[in-house]
Amino acid sequence: MSNINADLHSHSTVSDGLLAPAAVAARAAANGVTLWALTDHDELGGLTEGRQAAKALGMRFVDGVEISVSWGAQTLHIVGLGIDPAHQALVDGLISVRAGRDGRARGMGDALAAIGIRGAYAGALKYVGNPALVSRSHFARYLVETGVARDVKQVFDHYLVRGKPGFVEHQWASLDDALAWIHAAGGLAVVAHPGRYRLSKAALDEVFVRFKELGGEAIEVVSGSHGREATLEFARVARRYGFLASRASDFHGPRESAVDLGRADALPADLIPVWSRL
Ligand code: AMP
Ligand code: MN
Ligand code: MN
Ligand code: MN
Repeated sequence: MSNINADLHSHSTVSDGLLAPAAVAARAAANGVTLWALTDHDELGGLTEGRQAAKALGMRFVDGVEISVSWGAQTLHIVGLGIDPAHQALVDGLISVRAGRDGRARGMGDALAAIGIRGAYAGALKYVGNPALVSRSHFARYLVETGVARDVKQVFDHYLVRGKPGFVEHQWASLDDALAWIHAAGGLAVVAHPGRYRLSKAALDEVFVRFKELGGEAIEVVSGSHGREATLEFARVARRYGFLASRASDFHGPRESAVDLGRADALPADLIPVWSRL
């Protein structure tokens, strides 16, 4: 059970991925994935196509979503797995989360224009597959295209993170609401890539304590954005809090993502995989 090739976090053009849901499915299957979740940001719109493509390829499919959450000044990402994409509370909740994205993107365009980078909002839109889901990734791709920075990582580091000129503060869902929507829709809640948040150990512990209180089930122990140290650290966290463990590439696209679909490390053998409950 624990050594199946599960990949429970990935993106398509329905959010900020580079491939359509069916193409993500094909790539996952080609890489040997047998249990795959599509988890677009704040969106369920790719799940029908993803499920159909997975079925045709003989791959088990998990309906997923990655919800943007505000935690104080920080943004956290909470993945919901095994959710019912037709559940009204989840559908409505995600509509409310998406509603702020276009205004935020226009604000980012204005902020970049103020430092002399014009046309970034219109430019980012060229990369957008879903007008309801403009993301910083789309700005990053446009700013690479125009030579403002060498690669997507450089754009984020120099322009799109807090303290940099293109960053715009934004209010996402609350942690309480995100978990309530996931649970109402019959899903399991997973803290995405805990090693990525710029929080002290103590501050991150507060997240885990609250997440546990709210009935959160799992954390990504293995993630495309975790190195070896982070995996070991979050394996300890999973044991300490009794969290199920997830394994996730967080794949966005060929060349852009360091870890391909199904190619993340295996979970430490003693942990209980989240897919034992899916
Ligand atoms: P948004 O939801 O619009 O804030 O965009 C968040 C997305 O930006 C994440 O899901 C990643 O795909 C991407 N991202 C965030 N930080 C970085 C980074 N440092 N390097 C590359 N991509 C990043
Ligand atoms: Mn993303
Ligand atoms: Mn994320
Ligand atoms: Mn993601």
